[in-house]
Amino acid sequence: MANATNVRVRFCPSPTGNPHVGLVRTALFNWAYARHHGGTLVFRIEDTDAARDSEESYEQLLDSMRWLGFDWDEGPEVGGPHAPYRQSQRMDIYRDIAEKLLAGGYAYPCYCTTEELDQRREAARAAGKPSGYDGHCRDLSAEQKQAYEAEGRSHIVRFRMPDEATTFTDLVRGDITVQAENVTDYGIVRANGAPLYTLVNPVDDALMEITHVLRGEDLLSSTPRQIALYKALIELGVAKEIPAFGHLPYVMGEGNKKLSKRDPQASLNVYRERGFLPEGLLNYLSLLGWSLSADQDIFTADEMIAAFDVADVNPNPARFDLKKCEAINADHIRLLDVKDFAERCAPWLKAPFAPWAPESFDQDKWDAIAPHAQTRIKVLSEITDNVDFLFLPEPVFDEASWTKAMKEGSDALLRTAREKLAAADWSSAESLKEAVLAAGEAHGLKLGKAQAPVRVAVTGRTVGLPLFESLEILGKDVTLARVDAALAKLTA
Ligand code: GLU
Ligand code: ZN
Repeated sequence: MANATNVRVRFCPSPTGNPHVGLVRTALFNWAYARHHGGTLVFRIEDTDAARDSEESYEQLLDSMRWLGFDWDEGPEVGGPHAPYRQSQRMDIYRDIAEKLLAGGYAYPCYCTTEELDQRREAARAAGKPSGYDGHCRDLSAEQKQAYEAEGRSHIVRFRMPDEATTFTDLVRGDITVQAENVTDYGIVRANGAPLYTLVNPVDDALMEITHVLRGEDLLSSTPRQIALYKALIELGVAKEIPAFGHLPYVMGEGNKKLSKRDPQASLNVYRERGFLPEGLLNYLSLLGWSLSADQDIFTADEMIAAFDVADVNPNPARFDLKKCEAINADHIRLLDVKDFAERCAPWLKAPFAPWAPESFDQDKWDAIAPHAQTRIKVLSEITDNVDFLFLPEPVFDEASWTKAMKEGSDALLRTAREKLAAADWSSAESLKEAVLAAGEAHGLKLGKAQAPVRVAVTGRTVGLPLFESLEILGKDVTLARVDAALAKLTA
């Protein structure tokens, strides 16, 4: 195995749409592993499937990686000694290697049609035999090949699996042995000449001198094939050594089902749009299969890098828990410098989110409320509704909040509160609290019950930022006017 100083790992997604959280977790673990060892992270784009890959997805992928704060040592935009790093630009390399594999007898042309393959697979199944490729074209003579060509058949290129079991030590799962009959000869080049993932992925890992392959568990079953291909590449002088493999646990979603790409919960964009911090999201995703220590859930990427070892990854499926993800993000929001927090909220204080922007936005009010908002919200997008009462001419009344807070007797309470607030010291939130407390006492209500109608009258909702600081920032005139408007609404 490679020594620690020349660790070379790779992150090699296919740009097929918006990245999903499983992919981000894979990128994160590779990044942490590379950085921990002072190694190299290669970012490679596996875009050989022209039908599914698009330039737009490619741009999205890069943008996502940048947003998450990842950097890479070789790959798109940074180049490197093994450029190009987009597989669509490496077709000549794959063609050349496929020819070498054919010439060396490691691979062979397979002329079977899909119908023939299907028929024989069915028959094998019916007879209770293994249903993989049956080796039909393994040892065709030159005449047989000619005859097939003369029939006008096209052929794929199939890799010849050795007739022996494959054993390897998975960095996460330990020793794994797969019997030869469970891994049959497999296609590496399509009939139209297009190379398949089965070829291009290990070929690039070999050429890019990857030492550790850390990837999702779904790819575990392809490892014996890749190891066999690697051995052929070593014999051909193309590869140096077989990398170590580590397969990261599945991420499970709702109902304990594997989180699928199509799952809305899986899309990175959903988290960006809701205002997760990249550091919060990465912290949470790192916990899908790994942990820093039993008593520390919140940590920075640097802390993760310092501690990360793939041997500590838990092979059991990890459950994606949105509530926990939000809680961890909330903790990261609290950790921000308040100025940084205020700046990161900026997109949600503008159109299309903020109906008051830009005309009625008030920088001083925002600066005053920001520290209070920072202690309350879980994701940045929550900022809009939490501060709208400061910038809108009138609060947006939430129907359910109104019904809940405005009970019988609320008008009397509000009248007393208005009186006490009018006489309070408006340069002190404490004084405003005492005013509402006193109003409550006059009506036999505790603070919690007394402040609910005031909060709804002023902000429109039963839950929100610390009330008395909110009132202080909103100011005496507006607050009293809103209490009056609520009273008018109540008596109407
Ligand atoms: N492009 C492959 C995928 O996204 C990469 C597989 C691998 O890491 O080997 O599934
Ligand atoms: Zn065949």
